[in-house]
Amino acid sequence: MQDTDRCIIHPEAELEGFHSLAVPVYRASTVVFPDAKAFAARAQRLPDGYTYGLHGTPTTRMLERSITQLQGGAWTFLTPSGQASCVFAMLAVLKPGDTVLISDSVYPPVRQFADTDLQRMNITVDYFDPLSLADLEARLTPRTRLVWCESPGSNTMEVMDLGAISDLAHRRSALVGCDNTWATPLYCKPLELGVDFVAEALTKFFGGHSDLLLGSLTLKDEALILPVRDLMGRYGVGVSPDDAALVLRGMETMPLRLHHASAVALRLAQHLERHPLVARVLHPALPKAPGHEIWLRDFKGASPLFSAEFTPKATPFLGEALTGLQTFTIGASWGGTRSLLAPQPIAGTRTARPWQGAHQILRFSIGLESEAALQQDIDAFLARLQLAMDAHKP
Ligand SMILES: *Cc1c(COP(=O)(O)O)cnc(C)c1O
Repeated sequence: MQDTDRCIIHPEAELEGFHSLAVPVYRASTVVFPDAKAFAARAQRLPDGYTYGLHGTPTTRMLERSITQLQGGAWTFLTPSGQASCVFAMLAVLKPGDTVLISDSVYPPVRQFADTDLQRMNITVDYFDPLSLADLEARLTPRTRLVWCESPGSNTMEVMDLGAISDLAHRRSALVGCDNTWATPLYCKPLELGVDFVAEALTKFFGGHSDLLLGSLTLKDEALILPVRDLMGRYGVGVSPDDAALVLRGMETMPLRLHHASAVALRLAQHLERHPLVARVLHPALPKAPGHEIWLRDFKGASPLFSAEFTPKATPFLGEALTGLQTFTIGASWGGTRSLLAPQPIAGTRTARPWQGAHQILRFSIGLESEAALQQDIDAFLARLQLAMDAHKP
């Protein structure tokens, strides 16, 4: 062999005798075959054989299987983001002329996708009250193909009765999908409650370190595996094995991270609830939270993400009081090691269940910093809020 070829055609290294606890990262576009016959028959290797990097590598397959087992499903697809997992769930089952019913407190970018792209495909989009089965029932029509849930809802945290919703939808021949990012399959398993497919933003707790974007879509029914795989292939959607490996690493500590941050978050939420400038704390584990009884019945825990609504007099000064944070930082996304605060506008994003509360709420994502530092930062923030209000008194 010439040196120039030696640079290109590497000797194989032994795998035998090498046992590591680390997740191997297999990168590939091309996958090679022993002969022309095997190459010609490569499509028959689907769904779980290897054909092309876009359709999976041992690293992405490992993560897919791990999530499938956690969810109790038939198959999992990885997507480039949590948003993409919601989008592909909808694209996989909806066709022109269908109606999709979406929970009113859905992740706002999903609403934007539905209102622009699904509408453009001649799919009717309607929203339902996440807390009212009667409202959902009234909106179901023979054209409803999909009911899309997110429990609890983004920012306002309404816990939905996924079992009853699934019964209702299935009786009308509609499928049910659910975004389960808040709970993760550790705290809720929507497929066991009757849902047909479940989306997760792995970007959040699974990854756990604010350094990647990835999503998953897990199916309960094997019949959807090939249609979804073909759809994702046609759209050219694949994920990096490096990101999949980071999620596999992140999820090893997910149970401990969640357990710890959730306990701290609940205590901080209770602390906030007692403050006179706080009108309500929206945290599913608090008895006054919307859907708390359902949370008690269907969930094994509460994740460390919750929101607080402040009094009408305090709300206009939230932005000002957020200057000077020591431990929290301001930012979107969540589920990482750092605690985040995000002021979120609500009113403009609700149509089926008009928002009665403050025009803006504050979302708390509790990370892994010490509870004392977090509590001190919250107290200092509340003190600044009071000072800002006093300074603006006529
Ligand atoms: C963040 C989030 C998503 C989107 O995840 P990305 O990976 O950031 O696209 C979807 N649903 C919920 C509930 C989320 O919080």
